[in-house]
Amino acid sequence: MRRPIVAANWKLNGNRSMVSSLVAAVNKHAASAVSADVVICPPFPYLVESRALIDQGNAYLGAQNAAKETNGAYTGEVSAEMLAEIGCRFVIIGHSERRQYYGESDSIVAEKFVRVQEAGLIPIVCVGESLQQREQGKMEQTIISQIQAVIAKAGISNFNNAVVAYEPIWAIGTGETATPDQAQQVHALIRGEVAQQSESIASELRILYGGSVKADNAAELFAQTDIDGGLIGGASLDAAQFNAIVSAAG
Ligand code: PEP
Repeated sequence: MRRPIVAANWKLNGNRSMVSSLVAAVNKHAASAVSADVVICPPFPYLVESRALIDQGNAYLGAQNAAKETNGAYTGEVSAEMLAEIGCRFVIIGHSERRQYYGESDSIVAEKFVRVQEAGLIPIVCVGESLQQREQGKMEQTIISQIQAVIAKAGISNFNNAVVAYEPIWAIGTGETATPDQAQQVHALIRGEVAQQSESIASELRILYGGSVKADNAAELFAQTDIDGGLIGGASLDAAQFNAIVSAAG
């Protein structure tokens, strides 16, 4: 039985007053999520402050990115070790916004996956196709090569301590959600790809859906066989919305 996860990706949003109200409200609600993990990923400057507010068993701190290097002359970067030291448990890597705006290739994402695990943290690795790739019939090929790049670098056995998030780019922040059937189809594709190398790891792998998940569509999505929770952007900035999504998961 896979335990659902609902992760809040604040992106480049928030301030200290939002940390104290939103993290506190989500942390409190997480205690009622008896069968789901809740991960809160605020921007870097708010991680330490957020950590101090997270004290419920089901709630964890996560970061939105980590460097592919461990230390050295990489101005502006933050290492996975640093994130571990301040109490993060999860790190989102390969979000489509990082791939698109910061040039993160499949191979960079794979390196980050390895670094995050070396630091003892759990990567939430994002994959997803653009609208153009979907319309050109290249969705499967895109997803498979994104997954395979990580498997090739990290090895299949390391997927036993990782989370995958399927986020169709055309559904992120657009209000246009994949239908439960569309999402299920891709989640099954991802699980099937992993199963080709290890059925046991595939059956335990938690695969989240992300892309305009809201309180009113979450339950339908999470009811699909291969959907194990969500990665939530916009709706994670509102405590009532996000907590309702957490309730829908577990
Ligand atoms: C995201 O950025 O991971 C995301 C899914 O955003 P939204 O929920 O706003 O579509």
